[in-house]
Amino acid sequence: MLDPNSELWEIFTRKEEYSPIKLDKHDRFNYAASKYRNSFKPVVSEFLLSEGINVVYPDNKKFAVCLTHDIDDIYPPLSHILSSFLYCLKSFDYNSFMPQILWKIKGNDHSPYLNFKEIMNIEQKYDAKSSFYFITAKEDPVRFRYDIEEIGHELGNIVDNECEVGLHGGYYTYNSLQSMKEEKKRLEKTLGKDVIGYRNHYLRFKIPDTWELLVKAGFKYDTTLGYDDMIGFRNGMCHPFNPYNLNSQEAIDILEIPLIIMDGALFSITRSLNEAFESCKKLIDTAEKYNGVITLLWHNAPFSWPIRKNWKLLYEKILKYCYDKNAWMTSGEEIYKWWTKECKLQIYPS
Ligand SMILES: [Zn+2]
Repeated sequence: MLDPNSELWEIFTRKEEYSPIKLDKHDRFNYAASKYRNSFKPVVSEFLLSEGINVVYPDNKKFAVCLTHDIDDIYPPLSHILSSFLYCLKSFDYNSFMPQILWKIKGNDHSPYLNFKEIMNIEQKYDAKSSFYFITAKEDPVRFRYDIEEIGHELGNIVDNECEVGLHGGYYTYNSLQSMKEEKKRLEKTLGKDVIGYRNHYLRFKIPDTWELLVKAGFKYDTTLGYDDMIGFRNGMCHPFNPYNLNSQEAIDILEIPLIIMDGALFSITRSLNEAFESCKKLIDTAEKYNGVITLLWHNAPFSWPIRKNWKLLYEKILKYCYDKNAWMTSGEEIYKWWTKECKLQIYPS
């Protein structure tokens, strides 16, 4: 168990985020503002394992990969169409550009970003399942996203494939219980079943308040806790855990499955596909060493956006790498179910 007077306790609880000196323009706590400079080392998980905690996975697998997708767009916005046009013009690759524009003539059903089937097909090759988090918020600071009711059949198809549909909470939702409840209800109505998983748009999150609101709204797990400007272990954990509220001195009844690698963050700190892959391998090897769960966030647009073709390539390379290591690759929902039944970690006195 962690000693409440130790530095590890401060890292685990994210104490420095309770009274942050600096937030970014989206009110996020960035890695750049953290006093802990080694996000590649899961120091808290390492300590807990040395204390003898036991983590097991189905079929005696050594570690798990939680695959997730935030569905920010299902219709290419003008900025994507223009960047695709310029990119394809430069590379004389007109075929790749066509899907970005043809749906405007053929109709919304032909949008290239309705690519969930394609994503699931890639995953199927490696015996993997994933989570898709959809937006149902009415407000967004950048642009109108989409109406979830228009793609009800797509959601049904995801669930039929044993993948998960969760909520991608709106930009303003992380500090609004009412919005969380409304957005959850709207998604459940379209989906026809309960929604238990959550990640906030832009990774906006306030510790510990957002967790507390998510509990009240009826969510069972969250997977927002990762950095927008770095990859790795934000609170020293490479395992899911129940967060602890330092204000009320109580555990919070939700499972956090920390986010380790977001596509955008990864490619903003590396200069090539190769370098990005090497960084991922380091983190995956670490998760394997500590019997951890490594959570990936790959947005859906990169799978059908010419300018992001390396992102898509890397996703499949990672899946193959983890498949060869015999990892359990699955959705947040499956991790949640397994974890709460088989792996409750004693991290602090309950
Ligand atoms: Zn988002």
